[in-house]
Amino acid sequence: MAVLEYPALRCIRRREEYPELPADCRQLLQTCLEGRDAGRQTVSAQPASCCHDGRMRIPTSPQRSRMMSSIRGKNTQPELALRKALFSAGFRYRLHERRLPGSPDLVFPKYKAALFVHGCFWHRHEGCRYTTMPQTNVDFWTLKFEKNVDRDARNIAALRDAGWRVAVVWECALKHSPDEACEKAANWLRGRGQLLTIG
Ligand SMILES: [Zn+2]
Repeated sequence: MAVLEYPALRCIRRREEYPELPADCRQLLQTCLEGRDAGRQTVSAQPASCCHDGRMRIPTSPQRSRMMSSIRGKNTQPELALRKALFSAGFRYRLHERRLPGSPDLVFPKYKAALFVHGCFWHRHEGCRYTTMPQTNVDFWTLKFEKNVDRDARNIAALRDAGWRVAVVWECALKHSPDEACEKAANWLRGRGQLLTIG
């Protein structure tokens, strides 16, 4: 079977969350993950049953949403936990509202509040142990991260200008103590604070 070039960025960050994927697909994902960690933009690997043309095909559900989430950084496990907890607490929200700057992960119209769940690596959580720098292609990564951080700041400013309250929940805080993060978010939603950072 031919060896193809795969974009390392298209990997999942936590392959252990995807135990139901076919073995060859898991193997490819792991190769992508290692490539990304090594700072490579592409990796060479054999196509897996979930792939064709060097791209990942969307697998059938229930893997589908999880696979998609890995690519776009949406619907991650910590984000799902937060959503579930807030829903249980009676909060109602829209998901990934594209009409607002930055497509906030959760939007609470009743509370005029937008909430982002930020992955620490991609959004560069300052001082966080997950905010690592790949060993190679440092210039590439530095530029990419700067763009991400600038974009986040612009989106938050635009939301604030439009009268939205904005919360940023870092993924590490959600992983570390989901209950605490949910409680903080709930208290903030009910209160009058304009900005909230958890993590
Ligand atoms: Zn963090």
